[in-house]
Amino acid sequence: MGKTYAVVAEARDGKLRQVSLEALQAAAMAKEDGDQVTAVLLGYELSGPANELAARFQGQVLVIDHPDLKTYLAETYLAALSQAFDTLRPDLVVFGHTAVGRDLAPNIASRLQAGQISDVTAIEKNGGEVLYTRPVYAGKAFEKKVFLGGNGVITLRPNNIPPAEPASSPAEIVAFDYTPEPSLRSAVKEVVRKATGKIDLTEARVVVSGGRGVKSPEGFKPLEELAEVLQGAVGASRGACDAGYCEYALQIGQTGKVVTPEIYIACGISGAIQHLAGMSQSRVIIAINKDPEAPIFKVADYGIVGDLFEVIPLLTQEFKQM
Ligand code: FAD
Repeated sequence: MGKTYAVVAEARDGKLRQVSLEALQAAAMAKEDGDQVTAVLLGYELSGPANELAARFQGQVLVIDHPDLKTYLAETYLAALSQAFDTLRPDLVVFGHTAVGRDLAPNIASRLQAGQISDVTAIEKNGGEVLYTRPVYAGKAFEKKVFLGGNGVITLRPNNIPPAEPASSPAEIVAFDYTPEPSLRSAVKEVVRKATGKIDLTEARVVVSGGRGVKSPEGFKPLEELAEVLQGAVGASRGACDAGYCEYALQIGQTGKVVTPEIYIACGISGAIQHLAGMSQSRVIIAINKDPEAPIFKVADYGIVGDLFEVIPLLTQEFKQM
């Protein structure tokens, strides 16, 4: 009998997250012919995202749609997933390496008595083995890992594997009958969202990031304009956040978000190891810094030595004309 692959999909504000389509593709890369893929979608009022998911693969979308799951809470989501997995009995579970995925994955791994490989950036087959690559030592090295039998749980770093393409025929959508957890120990009363731009930083194709060199909150304006022209998101170093130039929600690095965009533009960022931990896997890195000795130039594919307040408006002007 074939294996069962479960992809835990995420929706936010009625939209499927891009990483969920990448997780579907990850399952397709790891599976063999005859294995089954089921996408499990949790939340409330999910018909839009469920249809989006179903259009991308042949298999089953198990929808757990319940008012209790409107806002993420580990207890309710774990209860719902555990109930689904009691029936599904997955051999491999794929989560996005998101705040939700990072929270749920170890709990599910423990419940399934499964091994876990986190922050996977590539998947390849070698004979009968599936190798999962993940960065270690803040991106200075990679390790390739395998599951030695038994169940497995992986979390997939966004923007590393292409999203699943539209399928020739859609997956079947099945509603899962969730029994609400009777003895919750916590509840979400209110969610207060900080304004962090229209595009999710961790899923953006282009990130324009500012450091202490930006010098003030107003100094982020030219970066926001460039990001808008490139349909990207704005990020920041901890230096810029600590100085109060922007929200901590924008922080990229070891103690911030990890991003892997196609283009990362570092503006007035020196390139401390803790910052590199969050962006060094970006496909193309462009650094703008007035100090030619700044360490960021060691990891940059393209470097511009100059004043960011002169360089960025010129770039914005050029890109506007393209
Ligand atoms: P600086 O190092 O001060 O660099 C500013 C740069 O701007 C300089 O290179 C300067 O030449 C350039 N500049 C100035 N003016 C201009 C101009 N007009 N035009 C162009 N360039 C200009 N940092 C993170 O970013 N993310 C993390 O997650 C993180 N986690 C940390 C965790 C720990 C435990 C510790 C100890 C530190 C952490 N840090 C983190 C902090 C990190 O060590 C650095 O202090 C921080 O990244 C520096 O930010 P910066 O590059 O913006 O500032």
